Amino acid sequence: MRFALFLAALLIGAAPALANPRLKAVATFSILGDFVREVGGDQVDLVTLVGPDADAHTYQPKPADARILAGAKVLVSNGLGFEGWIDRLAEAAGFKGRRIVASAGATPDADPHCWQDVGCARRYVANIADGLAAADPANAEGYRTRAAQYDQRLAALDDWIRREIATIPAERRRAITGHASFRYFSRAYGVRFDAPRGYSTGSEPTARDVANLIRQVREQKTRALFIENMTNPALVAEIARDSGAVVGPRLYSDALSKPGGPAPTYEAMMRHNVSALVEGMKKN
Ligand SMILES: [Zn+2]
Repeated sequence: MRFALFLAALLIGAAPALANPRLKAVATFSILGDFVREVGGDQVDLVTLVGPDADAHTYQPKPADARILAGAKVLVSNGLGFEGWIDRLAEAAGFKGRRIVASAGATPDADPHCWQDVGCARRYVANIADGLAAADPANAEGYRTRAAQYDQRLAALDDWIRREIATIPAERRRAITGHASFRYFSRAYGVRFDAPRGYSTGSEPTARDVANLIRQVREQKTRALFIENMTNPALVAEIARDSGAVVGPRLYSDALSKPGGPAPTYEAMMRHNVSALVEGMKKN
């Protein structure tokens, strides 16, 4: 009797401790956070460092980030030089867990925005599934199952983007954005992008760069001008004013929107961007 009580107490008391603790993971920015949520489900306890509508290029880590990272088992970053601050942060935090570089295996490019090609996003998801499964083998099957289901949705998203872009005549497939964040998109889907800023938001263009772009927009009669959600809109607004174009809806290039916005997930973000681009390019 006493033993049965002891056993019951042990079972009740031990049950929460016996359940697999959730894998503590850190993602550097919101789009990666969405991928980790899709693959990790309830098995991952996730913190995302650079949140919605925020710029990961110029992010300055806070002391709280180092504390969070110190307690994490997994760190998911983009790679391709996107998060210039991540190695210093990992070192400062004494991070000893597994690093997952989501873009691993992608063809290196000066442009780090590989997720703008859904084919590359599918690579991210596969890398994240492999990394989570290696860090947490007990839950590997769950990671792989969710990644496979999500991959099917991404394949459908990629098909949809191609059908949408195909509705615009090839010579009208061009747009202006604030910084050069759409080179992967451009290669995958055949839209030409020009931008006053380079592959990062960290540098300012010269007056001559801006003047050249304004002339180009006028000559080509490009009407599809866009501002990204996480950058200063002043430059694109200036180009629009001086070229007679109208700035279209915000594109979500480097960060998701907040929940309730038009791009709270990667899938919603790509659908929003492509719809806005197609509407804008109809006016070219
Ligand atoms: Zn960017």
